[in-house]
Amino acid sequence: MKVADIPSNEKYRLEALYRYEVLDTDMEKVFDELTELASEICDTPIALISLIDADRQWFKSKVGLSADETHRDIAFCAHAIHQEEVFEVSDTFLDERFKDNPLVTESPNIRSYAGAPLITPEGFAIGTLCAINDKPKKLNAHQIKALETLGKQVITQLQLRLKIKEVESANERKTDFLSNLSHELRTPLNAIVSFSKLMIDDKTFDLPDKQKQYLKHLDYSGRRLLSLVNSVLDLNKIESGNFTLEYTSIHAKTFFESIHSITKALAAKKSLVVNFSCETNENEYFQTDETRLSQIILNLVSNAIKFSPNEQTIDIKIKLSSANLIVAVRDEGIGIAKKDLHLIFEKFQQVRPNENQEGSGLGLMITKSLVEHMHGSIKLSSKLGQGSLFKVKLPVCTENTFQQTDIPSQTQHTFNPNAKILVVEDNLINQEVAKAMFHTIGISISVCGSGEDAIKKLKSDYFDLIFMDLHLPGIDGFETSKKITSMDPNQKVVALTADVFSKADSKLARNGIQAYISKPASESDLISVLNKYCPN
Ligand code: ADP
Repeated sequence: MKVADIPSNEKYRLEALYRYEVLDTDMEKVFDELTELASEICDTPIALISLIDADRQWFKSKVGLSADETHRDIAFCAHAIHQEEVFEVSDTFLDERFKDNPLVTESPNIRSYAGAPLITPEGFAIGTLCAINDKPKKLNAHQIKALETLGKQVITQLQLRLKIKEVESANERKTDFLSNLSHELRTPLNAIVSFSKLMIDDKTFDLPDKQKQYLKHLDYSGRRLLSLVNSVLDLNKIESGNFTLEYTSIHAKTFFESIHSITKALAAKKSLVVNFSCETNENEYFQTDETRLSQIILNLVSNAIKFSPNEQTIDIKIKLSSANLIVAVRDEGIGIAKKDLHLIFEKFQQVRPNENQEGSGLGLMITKSLVEHMHGSIKLSSKLGQGSLFKVKLPVCTENTFQQTDIPSQTQHTFNPNAKILVVEDNLINQEVAKAMFHTIGISISVCGSGEDAIKKLKSDYFDLIFMDLHLPGIDGFETSKKITSMDPNQKVVALTADVFSKADSKLARNGIQAYISKPASESDLISVLNKYCPN
């Protein structure tokens, strides 16, 4: 028996093979179909995709053979990789190199062999697609050609796998990058939005009108920037497939009343009339992702407001039945031309942009994606100059139940004002924001600048509730929460973070974190959490 020589480019050949990360992976249908076809066309009981590793041949796909691999020294394919064309042995008994090979003398008793080398685009032969018979046999020209073509197809599939992996890993890097960017952008925006709101709401001092106006501009611009950052992050989440919904049971009437009051406040700025009708029962609850549902409705409503001239009318009709939620938003605004209707759900599309028109052109694309993620549909009818009607239909599961506790009104304090609260936050400006916000709702807090400090503090001190920033220097908020809740399993921890990517992460629950508030936290967010976790 002759052991095949090691190719002169062995080191680089192996590197090329390892780049595909295919050795010892599971069966894959696309490769199995190629071996089946090879066995069929060449009319042989055995067909294999054999990859030549340093000291073994490993089979990515096999027909008619049970072994997963054999030693390289006895591999026919180790010979075949020296060839550029199909390597054929038509009768092993007559070939000095193979007649006493254990694969010939014992099972599977190879009598004839034909292997097309698998050559990478860089020119390295990493293995073969081979057809094996237990009888002497010479393939005809068509069979040889077919084996060669199928061999090339194996490489094409391996290249495709590699490309998909590269794209996936680039996407992961992009998501990581955006997660960091999200944090970096949202942290300073948090300070801008929260401080301007605190100053606007502060009744203890009276600013001159001009400064009040400046503050309002600051507040407005900060919010716009924040909503833009959120849209870009949503888009990235949707496109990277990292999008999850969080369904909870919500009280329909409370939810839609809050949508109504937000709408009225938005519409008042343009003196628009809002006709709001909502068909739900008093005690109706339904399952939905509350944040995303309000994002969908408010996006349609704010477009209706944006594209309506002052003093026009906007109709919002909501109908919750046992199977569906239907939301219809109609305006008498500028409308959309027929030729543009198909464009407006595309990203970055603004149909009639003018210098006064704000927006990123992302809103409707995100709205449509959200609706589709929730297995619903969105329809639009519009006439240029006459107005538009957007209709969303979402399947829902309603529950008429009295067992549910009423959702506490978010602005009503029912929490214990003497509750001991710890905020773990490294950013000095955010510490100030937190102190000021808690002060406004009448609660004083302790602050720690790192996870390590918090753990130390908790060894000698007790807190009813901890608000935990997730991005911390040293041990992060997840790790800190895990340590804290393993010291005291009853300790309640709520994450407070600027990184919107953490929200859907089951990592929160795994690390003992009960709830999540995204920065900038609103007063009502804080009150709801305090009502829930620090009841009076
Ligand atoms: P934007 O952030 O620009 O509002 P959207 O994706 O929400 O982005 O909307 C895309 C475009 O669709 C808008 O720029 C506008 O041209 C058009 N559009 C959306 N809603 C309406 C409406 N109610 N009336 C007229 N045009 C609308």
